[in-house]
Order: sequence, then structure tokens, then C-alpha cells
Amino acid sequence: MSQKKYPQFTEEHEMFRKAVRDYCENELAPNAEQWEEQRLFPREVYEEMGRLGILGCRYPEEVGGAGGDIWYTAVLAEELPRSEMAGLAMSVLVQTDMATPIINAIGTDEQKEEFLKPAIKGEKIAALGVSEPDAGSDVAGIRTRAEKQGDEYVINGQKTWITNGTRADFITLACRTDPDDRYGGLTLFLFPTDVEGFEVTRKLEKIGNHCSDTAELFFDNCRIPERYRLGHEGAGFYHIMQNFQGERLVGALTGTAGAQIVLDKTVEYCQDREAFGKPLTGFQVTRHKIVDMETDLEACRQLTYHATDLYGRGIPAQREISMAKRLVGDKAMEVIDECLQLHGGMGYVEEGPVARAWRDTRLMSIGGGTREIMKEIIAKLMNL
Ligand SMILES: Cc1cc2nc3c(=O)[nH]c(=O)nc-3n(C[C@H](O)[C@H](O)[C@H](O)COP(=O)(O)OP(=O)(O)OC[C@H]3O[C@@H](n4cnc5c(N)ncnc54)[C@H](O)[C@@H]3O)c2cc1C
Repeated sequence: MSQKKYPQFTEEHEMFRKAVRDYCENELAPNAEQWEEQRLFPREVYEEMGRLGILGCRYPEEVGGAGGDIWYTAVLAEELPRSEMAGLAMSVLVQTDMATPIINAIGTDEQKEEFLKPAIKGEKIAALGVSEPDAGSDVAGIRTRAEKQGDEYVINGQKTWITNGTRADFITLACRTDPDDRYGGLTLFLFPTDVEGFEVTRKLEKIGNHCSDTAELFFDNCRIPERYRLGHEGAGFYHIMQNFQGERLVGALTGTAGAQIVLDKTVEYCQDREAFGKPLTGFQVTRHKIVDMETDLEACRQLTYHATDLYGRGIPAQREISMAKRLVGDKAMEVIDECLQLHGGMGYVEEGPVARAWRDTRLMSIGGGTREIMKEIIAKLMNL
């Protein structure tokens, strides 16, 4: 972030920020070109982050975490884009803030031992399996079936768009346990991917977030023990909606920070680059554009921090989180597009600092709940 003061961050938070930033800038960013080209970053990154205490910054010490507050999560989400790979940031945030919080919230001690602790250490990779070919925005349309047979569940169906899906060791998986109850018929499971009948059917080729794997998954008579059910049968929809709050919040945090990094680099570029005998910042139109972008990102940050504060205090924040996700999804893209314009031809080539961010950021108003779904949630809360 540029030089601004946010009193919610203590000295300890800033020490954590420095550690994550150093790691991202020095150990990850130099590999960005190669890992993007390979369409995957090495598995060892999770292990290293586990060793550095990055993956468990907010989890309780009993499960191997550092016991930090919500602002540690904010720091993590803000610093991961320093890796210059939004795909890596997304994959890591799936591990820390999308696939595992629900295990910490409602999992049994055995489930925490088998799934959460190794995920915090970076020994197991986690994925979140909600979306299906016919159920994206419409989560209650999930068809993947989990049928109880004795003390096992038999799972049949398909998932798609699953981040970390090609190499996850387990999936926090949403299934239908009652075909006749649209909302009350969903249940969550912890699904180890070495179960017979499970297959990664396709790795999806995306327009951005290249170093992050996104997969289509198939479940053919996969048998898992009842003890892998997460929470009560039928409570899945409620838990998914609860889980979405943290997911959307980290999306807004990382999206704002990623756009700020690009804007900061663009300001430097505009101060150095000359046209018609003066730097680009010598034109009032450029200065005003930069000020508008800085203002927009500050507004994104303030709304997102307000949502973070409420969420951290346990105050219902669905309204604020949905607004933050909506606003950041649109503004981050607008800002990065304008930054691309200010780079001229340099904005349009891969060697410039903007092209990758421009491709990656387009996901912000789609993944984890689209812009339109955010607006529908807010409209409902406004009783419109
Ligand atoms: C790179 C990537 C990574 C992802 N990672 C994961 C993951 O790890 N786990 C996971 O479970 N999912 C993941 N997703 C899925 C993601 O959450 C969905 O793509 C998203 O929720 C939208 O669903 P959909 O793609 O089926 O679009 P659809 O639901 O088909 O929507 C299509 C369009 O219709 C609009 N629309 C739909 N319903 C309404 C409505 N009621 N009112 C107005 N407009 C509407 C949408 O806003 C959108 O513009 C990922 C997606 C991508 C692209």
C-alpha cells in the first residue's frame, strides 16, 4: 500500500506484513513468468508458507495456527498480490479462507486433526467444491448426490471451476442429500481425493490467473465414511452462505490491494515517461485520472475495512461484504484498465507490469459470487 496510516494495524500486524511481503517479493515474484507459463506453481509453496506460519495466521493455536485476529487475514490478502500472481493469491486464499474456515467452525476434533492441521502446515492442499455445470450462482441447484448407505455416503456427480482441483488432497464438498428439499437438502463433506471413483476430468484453460489450476471433477460411486460429514445433514446451504462471507471479504481485500500495486507502478511510470517534452503527470488530464483512481481505491479500501471490522467482531456484515465485493470487482477492473491506457503500448505487452493484472482482475466480478448476485443480495436486504 502507499504511505497511508490505518490504525487498525498494530506493530505486530506490520511485522507480519513485512514477513509476507518479503517472501512474496523475494521468493515468489521472481518466478512469476515461469509459473504462469507452466500453468501451475510448485506444491512446495504451500509447505514453505506453512513453515512461515502464513497459512494459519488466524486459526487457533490448538490446531497449529497463530491465533491472530481478522486484520492478520487482511494483511495476508493484501500482501499476496506482491507475488505478481493473482492466481497464486487466489489458490492460497482458497486454502486459508475458503475451504478450511468451515472445518474450524463446525468440524469435529478428528476432522480438524485429519484435514485442518495438515492444511495449516501446507502438507495437504484444500479445495472448495460448490459450483457445478448447472449450479453456479444458483447454489441451491446443486445435484451432486450423497446417498447414505449404512455408515457410509456414496457420492455421484460433477463439480466444475474448482480452484486447486487438479492436486487437492481433500475437497470441502457440497452435495445433495435430499432431492426433494431445495435449500434444506444440501450437506457438506470432507472428501479425500484418493477415494476410488474420483477423477479430475479436465484442467480448464483460463484467460487469466494462469498459475492457479482450475478443474472439472467427477465422482462415480465414491464411498466415504459418515465421519467425513461436516456438520448436520441438511445444514449445507446455510454453511455455504456463511462461508461465502469470508471468501468474498478476502476477495475484496486482495482485489483492492492488487489494483493499488498497479496504480502505484503507473504513477511512477507517468512521472518518468515523457511526451511532448514533459512527463505524463505534467498533463492535467493524467493527474486528474490518477487522483480519481486513488480516490476510488481509497473508497474500496474503507468500505472493505469497515466490512472486515464488522466481520471480525462477529456482527452480521452480509450487506457490507456484498457491497465491498461488488464495488471492488468493478473499480479494480476500471483502475487497471485505465492504468493500461496510461502505459500506452507498454500496457499491451506481456513484459509490462499491467497486462497480467488486467487479465487476472476480470475474474473479480465473477468468482465467489457475481456482480449481479451481489446486487441481488443487497436488494433483498433493502427489501426492494
Ligand atoms: C477462475 C475461477 C475459479 C473458481 N473457483 C471456484 C472454486 O474454487 N470453487 C467453487 O465452488 N466455485 C468456483 N468458481 C465458480 C464461481 O463461483 C462461479 O463461476 C460463479 O459463482 C458464477 O457461476 P456460473 O459461472 O455458473 O455463472 P451463472 O450462474 O451461469 O451466471 C451467468 C450470468 O448470469 C448472471 N445471473 C445468474 N443468476 C442471476 C440472477 N438471479 N439475477 C441476475 N443475474 C444473474 C450472472 O451474474 C452471470 O453474469 C470459480 C470460477 C472461476 C471462473
